[in-house]
Amino acid sequence: VREFESACEKYFGVKKALAVTSGTAGIKIALRALNIKRGDEVITQSFNFIATIEAILDIGAKPIIVNVNETLNMSPDELSKKITKKTKAVIPVHMLVYPNKINEIKKICKKKKIKILEDNCETLGGKYKNKYLGNYSDVGVISFDFGKTITTGEGGMIVTNNKKIYQYCNQYHDHGHKFKKNIA
Ligand SMILES: *Cc1c(COP(=O)(O)O)cnc(C)c1O
Repeated sequence: VREFESACEKYFGVKKALAVTSGTAGIKIALRALNIKRGDEVITQSFNFIATIEAILDIGAKPIIVNVNETLNMSPDELSKKITKKTKAVIPVHMLVYPNKINEIKKICKKKKIKILEDNCETLGGKYKNKYLGNYSDVGVISFDFGKTITTGEGGMIVTNNKKIYQYCNQYHDHGHKFKKNIA
């Protein structure tokens, strides 16, 4: 597992990768790491797989659905309209390896100080410009379910360049066991 994490760090060009039990678990853990709380609004897109919504509901947050555009992914214009004071995170989903207009989404979220989690579950190997998807925001999540690009049977990976997010995920996914430097 540690070798696989290192391989993912190299492949994605991220500082940290953390293996988890599934893509859904990865999204839940990452949302916790982004400090999403009960009642917060988390925006995602209409063309999607249900797991994204399940993860948002499971942590007690409220899923807000934004329509897609010609990319079949999140419409940045529709996103702007759905942002409220309660919006704490946005989850663009790069469906079927097709990239979101991630730079436009980032611009909108940066202005409003909203965190971005890329649901990269279907997107292993997909690039936008010269960088792998999953590497464009605060945190990305990949799935290794048997229906995905590559599989570990079940499994997932959280990727991030943010040390604090990584440390939170590392402890939270393992019963709060102390963050161990030697295995990280
Ligand atoms: C598969 C998938 C997930 C969940 O991954 P699991 O490993 O099956 O839990 C989440 N989001 C999207 C878009 C997916 O396709």
